[in-house]
Amino acid sequence: MAEVLVLVDHANGEVKKPAAEMLTIARRLGEPSAVFIGPGAETATDLLARYGAEKIYAVSDPAAVEHLVAPQAEILAQLVQEKQPAAVLIPSSASGKEIGARLAVKTESGLITDAVDVQAGPDGPVTTQSVFAGSYTVQAKVTKGTPIICVKPNSAAPEQANGAGAFEELSVTISDGAKAAKVTAAEPKKATGRPELTEAAIVVSGGRGTGGDFAPVETFADALGAAVGASRAAVDAGWYPHTSQVGQTGKQVSPQLYVAAGISGAIQHRAGMQTSKTIVAINKDEEAPIFELVDFGVVGDLFQVLPQATEAVKGK
Ligand SMILES: Cc1cc2nc3c(=O)[nH]c(=O)nc-3n(C[C@H](O)[C@H](O)[C@H](O)COP(=O)(O)OP(=O)(O)OC[C@H]3O[C@@H](n4cnc5c(N)ncnc54)[C@H](O)[C@@H]3O)c2cc1C
Repeated sequence: MAEVLVLVDHANGEVKKPAAEMLTIARRLGEPSAVFIGPGAETATDLLARYGAEKIYAVSDPAAVEHLVAPQAEILAQLVQEKQPAAVLIPSSASGKEIGARLAVKTESGLITDAVDVQAGPDGPVTTQSVFAGSYTVQAKVTKGTPIICVKPNSAAPEQANGAGAFEELSVTISDGAKAAKVTAAEPKKATGRPELTEAAIVVSGGRGTGGDFAPVETFADALGAAVGASRAAVDAGWYPHTSQVGQTGKQVSPQLYVAAGISGAIQHRAGMQTSKTIVAINKDEEAPIFELVDFGVVGDLFQVLPQATEAVKGK
């Protein structure tokens, strides 16, 4: 069976959730091989094997991660040439998409970004994406070279499988060109104790309807172990950080559950959340457009509904 390379998403060696999701997807397409670039691969071996990685290709040379994304694209290109994989799966983050684009140029292959699903087709992987601000769902496949697919977080529920996890440290050549820019300082973001917005399985977002009081949104989010998002109206008002904005010009999220509280459902907001698996809205206006796309809608005041919902969750 052909190998499927999965670029492991990690922060300083700590494997992030999308890696397990992408290994699960890779098993539909062939034999998953994890590619771990940067220090810390040894400690990740068990986890990657648990999600089905038959092989783990590691590059622990710090130069591979000190020079933005160019070295990672070079390493993957060398692997593609050597292993002729059935596909390469890369996290669909900003840096992942840049790695994918560089890899596609180097290997003269087609690239698909923002896939929310990937399935095996008769002649290669078939992906699903939500495009044009979410107004179309399309299926696509790569028709040239090695399919390079950037996969959004939460595109599959991680399933465990016993992979062999055979560890191989690669000796790679990183060109001087790929080392042209260097990260000179990195400061980790202050931890909120909540999951990363784009990776969270549950997102609770607040909009203008909060009137600037996000306390009930945060309390409900914490009861569910969810990330907190916000509409642009809320972030433009200075009520919540811009990094939490969900939508066309904010973050694109696709969690298992998305709760919109006091958000009207403008097309630009929908563009960032309508691929969520289950959508719940709380809005006091029964005519609010958000109700057109919800699985469950509550017509009511979020300041009454959210505390009750929090109590119900905690009382479970
Ligand atoms: C180019 C462009 C890009 C944009 N990008 C984005 C984007 O990325 N993300 C984004 O979100 N927007 C974006 N917008 C803005 C978007 O068009 C809307 O203006 C915005 O989403 C509205 O935010 P809102 O739903 O919080 O506010 P509103 O539209 O004002 O809706 C507030 C809702 O809260 C309800 N409400 C009020 N009080 C309560 C209460 N106590 N309890 C329950 N419900 C209550 C109201 O009934 C109303 O439906 C963009 C706009 C443009 C032009």
